[in-house]
Amino acid sequence: MPIHEYAPLEGPGCALCCYGFERMQSLHEPALTACPACGGALRRVIGAPAVIDGQAHVLRESHVAKHGFSQYRRVEKGRYEKITGDGPDAIGGS
Ligand SMILES: [Zn+2]
Repeated sequence: MPIHEYAPLEGPGCALCCYGFERMQSLHEPALTACPACGGALRRVIGAPAVIDGQAHVLRESHVAKHGFSQYRRVEKGRYEKITGDGPDAIGGS
């Protein structure tokens, strides 16, 4: 079954959809248009989860920082590098 990824169309979203979420759906199931938790409008994120289009990525980063969280990306096994936020610049590594 294909996994579809969704993100809020506009607005901050709720705990479920604010950073996007994945949902396994059959080919016959229509794409979600609203968040099942908050009812907010959703857009489908096309492509592999690792590939985020430039603008969406920026929006996501500013959203994360605004709420006082830090966001990290995995650079290698067990090592994470900070993308945004007030946390340490990197986590893990030797
Ligand atoms: Zn929601």
